[in-house]
Amino acid sequence: MRRSGETSIFTEMTELAHRTGAVNLGQGVPDLDSPPALLAGVAEAVLAGRNQYPPAAGHPALRAAVAEHQRRHYGIELDPASQVLVTTGATEALVSAVLALTGPGDEILTFDPCYDAYPADARLSGATLVPVPLAVERDKDDENGNGAGGGAGFAVDVAALARAITPRSRLLLLNSPHNPTGKVFTPEELARIAELCVAHDLTVVTDEVYEHLVYGEARHVPIATLPGMAERTLTVSSAGKTFSVTGWKVGWISGPAELVAAVASVKQWLTYASGTPYQEAIAAALGTVDEWAAELRGVLAEGRDLLAAGLTEAGLTPFRADAGYFLQADVRPWGFTDGLALCRQLPQLAGVVAIPTRVFQQGEDVMPWLVRFSFCRRHEALREAATRLARLGQGR
Ligand code: PMP
Ligand code: GLN
Repeated sequence: MRRSGETSIFTEMTELAHRTGAVNLGQGVPDLDSPPALLAGVAEAVLAGRNQYPPAAGHPALRAAVAEHQRRHYGIELDPASQVLVTTGATEALVSAVLALTGPGDEILTFDPCYDAYPADARLSGATLVPVPLAVERDKDDENGNGAGGGAGFAVDVAALARAITPRSRLLLLNSPHNPTGKVFTPEELARIAELCVAHDLTVVTDEVYEHLVYGEARHVPIATLPGMAERTLTVSSAGKTFSVTGWKVGWISGPAELVAAVASVKQWLTYASGTPYQEAIAAALGTVDEWAAELRGVLAEGRDLLAAGLTEAGLTPFRADAGYFLQADVRPWGFTDGLALCRQLPQLAGVVAIPTRVFQQGEDVMPWLVRFSFCRRHEALREAATRLARLGQGR
């Protein structure tokens, strides 16, 4: 079988932004600063000649730094030698885990909408992705339903998850903080999810790439810290978002040694290993991530609020986003019921690129009018986009 040349929505929309010169609020690619010592660290490692393959499981310094990071932030104890595997971005960790743990006939549960790699990974393994819709929840304190601080959010429908579990269910692919919604799963939701996973003997692969990008009162809780979960959970993260270095593609996966070994057995045939100098520099930066992440959160939360104000002025109602890079808005006030149709015209209409949320929707297309705008951009770009969108909103 030859695969057709399908391209991801990110490729399509990024090309559209380049072609039209529109402000790109599509793909989650930050143009923000990175820690200067991290950048210098890569240059030093390159010039010092550390340019050959690292061990396939990852640079020992980075494996140790990941184990130390999990211990310090979450109280998770890991043996760096057997319980941490470095990968080429979170992307490779996810596909390796799915290929290692599932195959034809197996079912993979995930909350819908979901990051677009999950259905693709399931297709590669031959497993069936079972989407469980997130429910829309309105904030009781939010009288007018406006603003990033208090609009509608998304919630787990525990009963829907329970109904979706079958004897073929193998894996739950969890993502908190969540892309595309910006939802941070609450400790109560995670507890209910964990109970179901224990009761049905499910393995969990949890994608926590936005772990450090959580704003306001919300708190990130890794599901691996819940009772009965450490022995069944593989936790994935990456340097891309935390240090605004998405082009470096260094990620990692950690958990029980036998699960990590299974993932490593696939990963070795995908890329074998990834960039030694990057791994070395990231290992050093992870040790002092807290101060850096606090600054980055400030920049991103302010960017979110700027964009939310622009969208509100443009006549839309953004959903609440407690984390990550993205805000969602219902574009029906602009006369569009299909977000994809709007996004294809938005560069011409307003000089802005965004991503239709429906491309992340695997199950029933219940909110085709939802559009995802990214705020991981410099504030000048967000102000410009807000002005352009407000102009569009006023003209409609
Ligand atoms: N998971 C989620 C939820 C993401 O948004 C992304 C996007 N960058 C990734 C995984 C991929 O991460 P990486 O670039 O480290 O492969
Ligand atoms: N995670 C990024 C997003 O959601 C895109 C990464 C990619 O292009 N694959 O926009």
